[in-house]
Amino acid sequence: MSTGRKYLLRNVAPYGGDRTTVLLADGVIAAIGPDVSDDDATIIDGRGLVLLPGLVDLHTHLREPGREDAETIRTGTRAAALGGFTAVHAMANTTPTQDTAGVVEQVWRLGREAGWADVHPIGAVTVGLEGERLAELGAMAESKAQVRVFSDDGKCVHDPVLMRRALEYVKAFDGVVAQHAQEPRLTEGAQMHEGVVSAELGLAGWPAVAEEAIIARDVLLAEHVGSRLHVCHLSTAGSVEIIRWAKSRGIDVTAEVTPHHLILTDELARGYDPTFKVNPPLRTQRDVEAVRAGLADGTIDIVATDHAPHTREDKDCEWGAAAFGMTGLETALSVVQETMVDTGRLTWADVARVLSETPARIGRVADHGRPIAVGEPANLVLVDPAVRRVINPDEQATKSGNSPFRGRDLSGCVIATFLRGRATVLDGASCDEDVVVRA
Ligand SMILES: [Zn+2]
Repeated sequence: MSTGRKYLLRNVAPYGGDRTTVLLADGVIAAIGPDVSDDDATIIDGRGLVLLPGLVDLHTHLREPGREDAETIRTGTRAAALGGFTAVHAMANTTPTQDTAGVVEQVWRLGREAGWADVHPIGAVTVGLEGERLAELGAMAESKAQVRVFSDDGKCVHDPVLMRRALEYVKAFDGVVAQHAQEPRLTEGAQMHEGVVSAELGLAGWPAVAEEAIIARDVLLAEHVGSRLHVCHLSTAGSVEIIRWAKSRGIDVTAEVTPHHLILTDELARGYDPTFKVNPPLRTQRDVEAVRAGLADGTIDIVATDHAPHTREDKDCEWGAAAFGMTGLETALSVVQETMVDTGRLTWADVARVLSETPARIGRVADHGRPIAVGEPANLVLVDPAVRRVINPDEQATKSGNSPFRGRDLSGCVIATFLRGRATVLDGASCDEDVVVRA
């Protein structure tokens, strides 16, 4: 898979620690040490930049097949590379749905052909995300795509019997059910978080309990059948408490938080800008503090983007008619740095854990999220934490402009991304295979 080009990363700081030099050759980390050199390698002067394992996203919407006007596997994975990701898990709510071996193999193959980041398709739990009967979970697991994560994301598997069967079924191939926790009856017509702001604006509310009730039920189901459960985009203080309780009982549950739930609140709905309309909704400052604390103490295992590109037609309309979702691949690392590293709550080694190692482990991706060590696959990202940049979605690689950070400045910047030793990003810009790299 490697092009044969070698890279010598001089003066880089693995996990933000001591500076060293890292040689990438033949798709792997070939040598590490202050005196490493190679006359044939392209030299990158690291200037003390932070070197991390390539990021792994457990929750991306690539929209292909079906909504190529909003994103394609090619544009979405190029955005991923620019955000420092070397692997992404593609959610199943495509058209057709990723609920058969044929569709997941197609998505997997298109990811390989695009070459920007490895694409691991997520399989639907139920046929057509209809919540009525289980999809062909075993066939998807045995396909070339080797699906290990199953989700009806966008919709909740709300039938407890179906959820139980799915949890039991995936044990056969070490899979995991990733639940979008939303009690449907409690959220009918919901437009934003139910609270003071929704009451003032007169918008139908999405109460915290609609998320917490499903998480509580599902951790008990997971315990009952002895399966593992993953909770998508946890967003409330109460959800953090439930996960903390479940882990203290030894229940095999993992949880993710999105970058936007780490930094934005429901106060943003006051401007009626549908860019800030998302599911689950932006919550209160108290919830933001709780998810930050949960991520810092390990109750929340990972950060996942829930990158949800939407066309202008689906977003530039009145709040009630607009689609739920925001983009996130190209800003996720900056938001984590700003909210968790710059505030002293996480180290860079912790960032490697929550954005690479643990998501790879949950998704059973063998060759990503690996240690920075000789012989390991050269899936890496080089980060400059010292710069601040203003976010302009019109200059991003994603096809859609619905970033909640438009015009806002954020910490840090991805300088280079390597996928099996090949640079997908250099000098902060994406590079095609045929790019002429400076000597
Ligand atoms: Zn979701």
